[in-house]
Amino acid sequence: MTTLLQSSALMPTYNRFPVRLVRGQGCRVWDDQGREYLDFVAGIATCTLGHAHPRLVQAISDQIQQLHHVSNLYHIPLQEELAAFLTQHSCADQVFFANSGAEANEGAIKLARKYAHVVRGYTHPVIVTAQASFHGRTLATLTATGQPKYQQHFDPLVPGFVYVPYNDLAALTRTVLELEEVAAILLEPLQGEGGVRPGERDYFQGVRQLCDERGILLILDEVQTGMGRTGYWWGHEYLGIEPDIFSAAKGLGGGIPIGAVLCKEPYSVFQPGDHASTYGGNPLACRAALTVCQVIAEEGLLENVRQRGEQLRRGLQALVATYPELFQEARGWGLIQGLVLHPNSPWQAAEVVQRALAKGLLLVPAGPQVLRFVPPLIVTAAEVDEALERLAAALADG
Ligand SMILES: *Cc1c(COP(=O)(O)O)cnc(C)c1O
Repeated sequence: MTTLLQSSALMPTYNRFPVRLVRGQGCRVWDDQGREYLDFVAGIATCTLGHAHPRLVQAISDQIQQLHHVSNLYHIPLQEELAAFLTQHSCADQVFFANSGAEANEGAIKLARKYAHVVRGYTHPVIVTAQASFHGRTLATLTATGQPKYQQHFDPLVPGFVYVPYNDLAALTRTVLELEEVAAILLEPLQGEGGVRPGERDYFQGVRQLCDERGILLILDEVQTGMGRTGYWWGHEYLGIEPDIFSAAKGLGGGIPIGAVLCKEPYSVFQPGDHASTYGGNPLACRAALTVCQVIAEEGLLENVRQRGEQLRRGLQALVATYPELFQEARGWGLIQGLVLHPNSPWQAAEVVQRALAKGLLLVPAGPQVLRFVPPLIVTAAEVDEALERLAAALADG
């Protein structure tokens, strides 16, 4: 055994805050010193129902006592039930379950490639993605991610990906016309990690039309924007278009790992043996996701997201007005909001996050210049006000 410089046995892949969170309830978490924080990170847009939600606690506890994992060699009724819910609440007809966002996108990429090979007869299918996108950390999704900083030192990358600027229909059209065998265009409805940058309606309507005209599949990465985060089940509802294939993960299991590839019937070309996942869609994960779906639907959470999102946005805009030298704008949909730092601001997002933490508010940056606000979908009006007060206090401390 070699001697490591760090005292931890963990690989140092994260720059962690010096905080140890040990308990959560609703939109609040506590550290091992008993300090309380308002959680506007929610495991990065994942804890849809907050922490220790009674219905999720009950469902998972029941399920783990009954049956928590069996192989996909057998029928899993909860998987059928979850797939039925998701297809009834989206434009999709069929679903494949995985464990994470990257794995869901990986499945979507494989599905589009198989469609290109067997239906279109392509031999070298190309997938066009956007600059500043984020699709995951596996080799294919890392390649799809249009940010060189994530790819450095991991080459050779996976062949068959081309990048274009986001929200630029002319550039996309030019690229598609220049290339042969374009199988799919893969985009986020709103770029999350890339800076909470909303997709433009006109752009996405143009992308949809381009795809229709040229027989290209439109894949949307709804890992961060799906499951009610925007105030609608899916971010693409904001854009007035339907994808052919889309992915979900983060909010789907409310913190229990599960991802999904969803598609319309004509693109459902996987056959037995084409794709698989040992854990994907096991009874525990499906029970959690089904509970998340039911709570969103039965407790009016989409309406809550729209109202609290409006309230949060107005509060952030007030901060932009108060601190024009610090902030440039507030932008986002529903409960995925970004506060964009001014290019000449003395602070980067990480510094503001650090200050907010000291005032009892958890936030996560989206790139160096944007603060991201992604609280649980159950957040109350009082909690949004309190978060805004804590942020204001963090800024006032200079
Ligand atoms: C987080 C994220 C992913 C990756 O999800 P993992 O579960 O971390 O693999 C992919 N796409 C988008 C848009 C994301 O926000």
